[in-house]
Amino acid sequence: MNQSSSDAASAVRSGIVLILSGPSGSGKSTIYRKAIPELGNIEFSVSCTTRAPRPGETDGKDYYFISKERFLQLKSEQAFVESADVHGNCYGTLKSELLTRISRGIDVLLDIDVQGADQIRSQCALSPELCKACKFIFIAPPSMEELERRLRSRGTETEDVILRRLANAAGEMARKDDYDFSIVNNDLECAVSEFISLVRTLRECV
Ligand code: 5GP
Repeated sequence: MNQSSSDAASAVRSGIVLILSGPSGSGKSTIYRKAIPELGNIEFSVSCTTRAPRPGETDGKDYYFISKERFLQLKSEQAFVESADVHGNCYGTLKSELLTRISRGIDVLLDIDVQGADQIRSQCALSPELCKACKFIFIAPPSMEELERRLRSRGTETEDVILRRLANAAGEMARKDDYDFSIVNNDLECAVSEFISLVRTLRECV
């Protein structure tokens, strides 16, 4: 095999990193859970959190549910790509969830808040490769009234938690224009289709 054909054989497309943010109750997770099986070759980055699991959540699938001590230890070991205090709990994206996959050509989806997205944007400013790989997408609810209705109808949070998440939502919505793309989740099926089309288009561009 000559050099150029061996280069071609070993050239693996790098994965893209989809960074999804949006207020709690905007429907981010419902959208990507429906989209991931349709898209293929894309994996969800499981974050660490110090929040307690909700009924139906599985450790290692929805989150790595860990203690505050363990979180701080991982942070001091620089195991996170980004981390933030969100609605009173710690959340962080592990390097191990991200880097190997993109180097193998697998796309990775991060569901992270606006602070975490900011940290990744700062890293993009230092790395052209990361900058090329990262696509920032904001998922917005159609209105704050609808957001409140959705948060309450989940029935998984206490009143205190709902009020805290609603109070934070306005600040998160104010960051929408800092994202490359935004999708308004008014009708779920439409939002899922829009998301799938967007990811397919982004894949063609890398
Ligand atoms: P929830 O507690 O509802 O699962 O998530 C609350 C918020 O934390 C959501 O806005 C979600 O995007 C964000 N979040 C989840 N994982 C991470 C993470 O690893 N890093 C950051 N910065 N935010 C996260």
